[in-house]
Amino acid sequence: MERILEDWLLHANRRPKILIADDQPSNIRVLYELFSAQCDIFMASNGEQALQLCQAELPDLILLDVVMEDIDGHEVCRRLKADPLTSTIPIIFITAQNQAADEVIALGLGAVDFIVKPINSVIVRARVRTHLTLKLQGDLLRASAFLDGLTGVGNRRKFDDDLLTNWRQCLRDKTPISLILLDIDYFKHYNDRYGHQSGDSCLKLVAKTIAESLRRPHDKVARYGGEEFACILPKTKREDAVRIAEAMLGRIRALDIEHRGSDVDHVVTSSAGVATLLPTLSSTPEVLLTAADVQLYEAKRGGRARVCATREE
Ligand code: GH3
Ligand code: MG
Ligand code: MG
Repeated sequence: MERILEDWLLHANRRPKILIADDQPSNIRVLYELFSAQCDIFMASNGEQALQLCQAELPDLILLDVVMEDIDGHEVCRRLKADPLTSTIPIIFITAQNQAADEVIALGLGAVDFIVKPINSVIVRARVRTHLTLKLQGDLLRASAFLDGLTGVGNRRKFDDDLLTNWRQCLRDKTPISLILLDIDYFKHYNDRYGHQSGDSCLKLVAKTIAESLRRPHDKVARYGGEEFACILPKTKREDAVRIAEAMLGRIRALDIEHRGSDVDHVVTSSAGVATLLPTLSSTPEVLLTAADVQLYEAKRGGRARVCATREE
């Protein structure tokens, strides 16, 4: 188990979370003793509590008793597998029923494993270890589908997802949403002069600088295109978004990356377009995107190394 903990801390930056659901406190205690040194343990003594804890804590693994008084383990499993939020959490049934037919039912419901009581600690540990490893690998794979391989910030797919989600949230909250589109100036010349590898390093540094300029947890940055980045700022007024964009441009310039091929400056600079909208039922996120794009074009046309913003929210 020590190895598992190391992997989790290294790749997920946290300990794995295990939910133990059983109506016998003595069973919970045995399992708690086995895993509490390496994992964060959540405990439920009935099905209802198990479902609530799953929603609230999103555990990485569930050790689930079959026979419980209110909602039985099979029904808990059925509901968790039907909800996209919890469907990827591996479930191991721990049960006194030891007939093959019971195991068939459990596996048919989507459980990854089936362990028979009384608990053999070596077997339980080994199976938990296996399924925690698979869960971590699955999480990393799912996350990587939304990350840009070069810079590590969100990719275009993530941006599209985030924009729609945040647009809807701001529509419900009746608050403005802002978008910053940022593009490196004369980047083609940079590649031509310093080579593609230096270009890649420059992109990584710029992405990191943009990410560090965003302070609020709901602010998002993504690589929108080759040398273009997009920042989603929910619940943000125009003037605040402009201030953030100007700070970003300042920090990118302050990286002091030599760029002799630029007509604007002798270091790498960037331009940004900012748009802010109060979402309505009749408009769409594309309107915001187009408005920011128009402003980015204005910033380029107006001489680059500057921020241009829509006049009204
Ligand atoms: P402008 O100031 O108008 O934005 O000019 P620009 O040269 O930056 O814009 P243009 O769109 O003409 O060129 C973008 C360049 O970005 C072309 C391409 O070589 C470079 N680029 C795009 N993606 C990557 C990448 O992943 N790595 C590197 N090194 N360069 C890239
Ligand atoms: Mg450019
Ligand atoms: Mg571009």
